[in-house]
Amino acid sequence: MAPMTSSARPLLNRRLAEFGTTIFAEMSALAASTGSINLGQGFPDTDGPEEIREAAVRALRDGRGNQYPPGPGVPELRMAVAAHQERRYGLSFDPDTEVLVTAGATEAIAATLLALVEPGDEVVALEPYYDSYAACVAMAGGTRVPVTLRPHEETRDGVTRRRFRLDLDELRDAVTDRTRLLLINTPHNPTGTVLTRAELTEIAALAVERDLLVVTDEVYEHLVFDGAEHVPLATLPGMRGRTVTIGSAGKSYSFTGWKVGWVTAAPALVSAVRAAKQFLTYVASGPFQYAVAEALTLPDTYFEEFGADMLAKRNLLVAGLAKAGFGVFEPAGTYFVTTDIRPLGESDGFAFCRALPERAGVVAIPNAVFYDHREAGAPFVRFAFCKRASVLEEAVERLGTLAG
Ligand SMILES: *Cc1c(COP(=O)(O)O)cnc(C)c1O
Repeated sequence: MAPMTSSARPLLNRRLAEFGTTIFAEMSALAASTGSINLGQGFPDTDGPEEIREAAVRALRDGRGNQYPPGPGVPELRMAVAAHQERRYGLSFDPDTEVLVTAGATEAIAATLLALVEPGDEVVALEPYYDSYAACVAMAGGTRVPVTLRPHEETRDGVTRRRFRLDLDELRDAVTDRTRLLLINTPHNPTGTVLTRAELTEIAALAVERDLLVVTDEVYEHLVFDGAEHVPLATLPGMRGRTVTIGSAGKSYSFTGWKVGWVTAAPALVSAVRAAKQFLTYVASGPFQYAVAEALTLPDTYFEEFGADMLAKRNLLVAGLAKAGFGVFEPAGTYFVTTDIRPLGESDGFAFCRALPERAGVVAIPNAVFYDHREAGAPFVRFAFCKRASVLEEAVERLGTLAG
């Protein structure tokens, strides 16, 4: 197709130039053309609860949400989000002024950064990061300042685990007079790290000391394993008023296609985020908002069963990857496992992932795409385990030929 303008100027603007293509498109195409099992992209291959799907059908049939819902979200959902935060974490939010429904966590992240970041502001974020963070900081005209999570061995209760750890001194050093906010993600995608209460307490102390806003992406709040505890940053001293917390029905209820997410924060923060959000989608997912309101009132046994199911899948994949010769960082949360390919005699995750479909019929994602310091992520590769057990078993069998 001919370009729309004859000038030599590139079509994609300078802010987004570096985000032109995504690895997910390339890898999903490879999966399709080679008939590989796609453990690259993180979406479940089984849908969320039947009764919640039925609730969406009912809302559609009853004409609830078929026209523009209210800008902040339907009251039923805002009340359900507030009740969930109260019940799970003892955090009390006013559904009218402190809850905002968004088009998934993705829009919550975009609107929050567009609202709060001034051109030239620095945004400190944990690296590797979820892929939309860098693009949204760029769209807001901000500068991203990555703090790298580093591989680390820890022995607890006689068991040695490998985990990606936050260096709190590095975080402290990353904060300057230009820092506008800290962008935190726990449980952390792609490493599976769940920040501990001690780590989060230090982050909170830093935010208070330097008077920073904190945006915390907690979409995996219900996916924590082995007794790990998800601690919402907003529960820690001094944080309730300075924290924007982001959640999503996509990850918590296995409805990633519904794009229902939310923000909880103090009224002034919610107002600011809403100012940006109203010009992005204005509103989204009308009937699904009613269904998610019902999902949020499911008894906690839903989360227990969901967590137990994901734990079994994690264990299956982790064991298979270890047996296949990968170095494995057993995740304490999320539905991803990060591996080290060096024990397999490899060092370049990009090359490894490009060859893996041909070699073993499995698709994974090179973690380097989630880093600014590409070299820090080079030997790491991410697999998703939110797939049916039979799919994971087949993937593990195929990967078993690698060491061979
Ligand atoms: C999946 C994901 C999101 C996006 O969530 P949606 O509700 O699907 O928009 C945001 N952050 C992280 C860390 C994720 O893994």
